[in-house]
Amino acid sequence: MADTTLMSIPGQVDPVPVARDITPREDGRVDLLGLPKKDIAVLFEGAGLDARQAKLRSKQVFHWIYHRGVTDFEAMTDIAKTMRPWLTERFVIGRPEVVEAQHSNDGTRKWLLRTADGHEFEMVFIPDADRGTLCVSSQVGCTLNCRFCHTGTMRLVRNLTPGEIVGQVMLARDALGEWPKGKMDFAEEADEAEYTADGRLLTNIVMMGMGEPLYNFDNVKGALKLVMDGDGLALSKRRITLSTSGVVPAMERCGEEIGVNLAVSLHAVTKDIRDEIVPINKKYGIEELLQACADYPGASNARRITFEYVMLKDKNDSDEDAHELVRLLKEYKLPAKVNLIPFNPWPGAVYECSTPERIKAFSNIVFEGGISAPVRTPRGRDIDAACGQLKTAAEKKSRAQLDREAAEAVAGEAR
Ligand code: SAH
Ligand code: SF4
Repeated sequence: MADTTLMSIPGQVDPVPVARDITPREDGRVDLLGLPKKDIAVLFEGAGLDARQAKLRSKQVFHWIYHRGVTDFEAMTDIAKTMRPWLTERFVIGRPEVVEAQHSNDGTRKWLLRTADGHEFEMVFIPDADRGTLCVSSQVGCTLNCRFCHTGTMRLVRNLTPGEIVGQVMLARDALGEWPKGKMDFAEEADEAEYTADGRLLTNIVMMGMGEPLYNFDNVKGALKLVMDGDGLALSKRRITLSTSGVVPAMERCGEEIGVNLAVSLHAVTKDIRDEIVPINKKYGIEELLQACADYPGASNARRITFEYVMLKDKNDSDEDAHELVRLLKEYKLPAKVNLIPFNPWPGAVYECSTPERIKAFSNIVFEGGISAPVRTPRGRDIDAACGQLKTAAEKKSRAQLDREAAEAVAGEAR
């Protein structure tokens, strides 16, 4: 029996992440993917190695897993030949299962993935001339129901584990053939230099796939630590951006404990409109959100906060909205850049994308206000890989069902 009971969803705008045990494998072996070095050492000790051996072996195995992308203990050439079967009997190094891989005609790639207990989620790779960005999911579904977002029409099924989150990055490295080759001595400094972003396809990570990363804080943090670890995937925190719809109480911790760049899904400048399209606004309003941005640890003119703004026709796209956006960002003295995202349609969506002329006019006003406001070119629309188009078929809710739930939540709050 799979442990796929739905997580309880306490409310529309105030969900609480629910802890969930990792499904044990049928063969009894333990998957090391997603574990930090110290946890691997604890497992090795538990399996019978003495403390010194466990520490040494965990260091070696960690390096092979995250730095080299190896999934077979037999390939770990600096580990004694007799030791390798001992590891193979007890442990595995997993990957999320690939259900389907799609290629867009603009080069964007999307993978439909499946967890060991059968839940589907997606990741997207977006190649550009000077960089390649992997868009990583943090949850299966999402508890928040932003009205313009297809993922928001899914139930939250569960949080992804650190292994399932870092596993997306590792799968992408597998698919792109980007694990470093060459010398096998893991401790060599020279090896680090070989492992820079230069010349690689996958250079940046954005936590902008399915789910609200700050509602799965610990697992996202665990995964990103492995991505940033110099002896792990070794990607700089400056190349990682976490996007939140505005989970204000977790933002400071994000800056302090993870330290990555922040993107905030602002999308509207008035309470009425933001309440409607980003319902978490009813819980944490615009002023509170912008204050948390102003306080975000590590933000500076060199490391600006990105404000995402989806362009919805006749909803949030007027000249007044643009002027108000500039005013707000200035009022809070935010080191800001604005990303204008043309709305990506999906079946059943109630909004339309603003016209290109409107988007241009909006962008110009923000730009004249002294804030950079590029318009994002939608990528991968033909394979439903663009922002907000991610969903997996299994757990969709109808719009009518969502509206019913929203009405019930509001009624509940009023009681
Ligand atoms: N849950 C997080 C991160 C995932 S969404 C968040 O909300 O920030 C990544 C970005 O895509 C967010 O800015 C989101 O608001 C935006 N988005 C969602 N649906 C969209 C759509 N249909 N068209 C364009 N952008 C969309
Ligand atoms: Fe969830 Fe983000 Fe979509 Fe809102 S925009 S429903 S927070 S994934």
